[in-house]
Amino acid sequence: KSGFVALIGRPNVGKSTLMNYLVGQKVAITSNKPQTTRNRISGIYTSDDMQVVFVDTPGIFKPHSKLDDYMDKASLSSLNDVDLVLFMVEPEEIGKGDQYIADLLKEVKVPVFLVINKVDEIHPNKLLPIMDSYHKLEGFKEILPISATQGIGIEDLLATLNKYL
Ligand code: GDP
Ligand code: MG
Repeated sequence: KSGFVALIGRPNVGKSTLMNYLVGQKVAITSNKPQTTRNRISGIYTSDDMQVVFVDTPGIFKPHSKLDDYMDKASLSSLNDVDLVLFMVEPEEIGKGDQYIADLLKEVKVPVFLVINKVDEIHPNKLLPIMDSYHKLEGFKEILPISATQGIGIEDLLATLNKYL
């Protein structure tokens, strides 16, 4: 299996940490040079049965003062150039900013997965209501709780990518 996966989310949710965990020292290519004008490779995960090229989608989720600037139409459509989209959030019930992004992601035609990172920071009892709040949005193929620093949920995440690629 192989494919291109966009990893998106607000600053500080742990995108780079996840990338480093997956790609680690075995990085084949890390480059900030534009691969296309729309997406650029930021890391490649390789295992016996899968190769996943993670891409940045420039212009998406740059912090702006106005919420409406978070993701413009061109950036949004660049998500249709990849095979899958991972939307990463903090382990808390959905807020206005992520709600706005989640609504826009409904227009993306490729499968979108919600990744709830930093689950090591919350009590296990708190996870279910958080997952429920995201289930209600109905836009996500699967909701995957992980901890990019502790390695929690990473196997499931990789299995899910393997299943859909
Ligand atoms: P990015 O801006 O989305 O790329 O976020 P970073 O990968 O730079 O991470 C932002 C901060 O969150 C760093 O201090 C990370 O160490 C921390 N962080 C990332 N993943 C986790 C996690 O799974 N658990 C905890 N507790 N902290 C995390
Ligand atoms: Mg980063």
